[in-house]
Amino acid sequence: MTTPSAAPDRAADLDYIRETLAARPLFCHFPRHLEKNFLETRVESSGFYIQTGQWPLLFMFSVIVAVAWIYFPALLSVQDYLQLKFIEIPLGVTILFIIFGHRIPVVRRHFHRVMFPVALFQLITIQLHILISAGNGYFLYSILNLLICMLLIALGLRFTFKVLLALYMTAGVAALALGAAIRLPLDMLAFGYYYGIFGAVVSALAGIAERQERFAFLQELLVNYQSEELTRLNRQLDRIAHQDALTGIPNRRSFDLAAEREWEIALREQQPLSLLLLDVDFFKRYNDTYGHEGGDHCLQAVARAIHDTLLRPADLAARYGGEEFVLLLPGADATGAAEVAERVLQAVDARRITHASSSVAPHVTVSIGVTTVTPTPGQPLQEALRQADTALYQAKEQGRHQYRVFRAPPPEEALEG
Ligand code: GH3
Ligand code: MG
Ligand code: MG
Repeated sequence: MTTPSAAPDRAADLDYIRETLAARPLFCHFPRHLEKNFLETRVESSGFYIQTGQWPLLFMFSVIVAVAWIYFPALLSVQDYLQLKFIEIPLGVTILFIIFGHRIPVVRRHFHRVMFPVALFQLITIQLHILISAGNGYFLYSILNLLICMLLIALGLRFTFKVLLALYMTAGVAALALGAAIRLPLDMLAFGYYYGIFGAVVSALAGIAERQERFAFLQELLVNYQSEELTRLNRQLDRIAHQDALTGIPNRRSFDLAAEREWEIALREQQPLSLLLLDVDFFKRYNDTYGHEGGDHCLQAVARAIHDTLLRPADLAARYGGEEFVLLLPGADATGAAEVAERVLQAVDARRITHASSSVAPHVTVSIGVTTVTPTPGQPLQEALRQADTALYQAKEQGRHQYRVFRAPPPEEALEG
């Protein structure tokens, strides 16, 4: 079965759905696109009803045919009997149409358009029989057929209430006109009684069922809208939680998660992992010179420059905090890390963001601390970060606007220390 799907103007739809569900009007006709959607859903669900109902339907038809065959030849004249047999043909056609027509895509797409004349034909023939059989032995049998047929049309074919009324009226008038034309004895009272009462009861049943279906459809649509909205909000929340608000690149939290994950992988596969810690040079002076807002723009430009230097999908550039950034390069060895560091330095230089109060260049520059680690069991990720920080400190010490690679102190020095 198809489910109600979303439409372009969801705000208006949502208002309409909420209002309608709250007011529960006696008759509800949806706005056009919802109505179309509802009818499609309904044809789909007719398919479900037809599939479950086809065997009872065929059984019922066999009983009708059998009753006519077994009982009536003895009761009726040959002509009446033949007329009676004729009633079975349209009914059989209708039933076969319902069962098999629904399996043919073209018929299915225009199900109600195709079924309308079929049902009309069926109703008219049965009524003609009621007129013909008035006073004969199978009058009741015809009446029963009429009732079955109406139920089938209303509940099995599931025309909408309006269409159903139009169908009943048209069939009633057409049968009477035909009856008069071929000079059948018209018992208007009996006709009106059965046709009118059956029609009213069956339509009311169908109308009540349809009204419930309409509300159920709106309810389902509401749930779909709400769950889509929830998914959207969740994605938005997820983005907010992982993105740095100022620069739009991944934030510290993103870095922490990715770094932990990559650290585990590097440990398991004994692959190197490189970390680059970046800091904008003389950024306090930049703020003092160009204002905090100018500083913000500068950080955005630097972030973009850094982010654009990354080539591999697994590489990550994140804002580490303030005017510091971090690059995570899984699988990169010392040579690769140095190359990236060089590239980042150049990329930031290439932006030529004027920095009049810098002591190292007329534009904004960065210093970078680089480390490459192949993790050993028990070694924390924080150690790699400390190494990168140490290297960054050295880069600052040695004049900024450069990268330094962390080197472990020689063993004897470590012992002395
Ligand atoms: P160094 O070359 O040694 O790194 O000097 P520095 O001035 O860059 O370093 P310091 O740590 O003294 O100053 C960093 C400045 O960065 C101070 C702080 O106000 C500024 N800052 C941190 N976060 C932001 C931000 O989001 N926007 C702006 N505009 N400034 C920020
Ligand atoms: Mg700093
Ligand atoms: Mg700085």
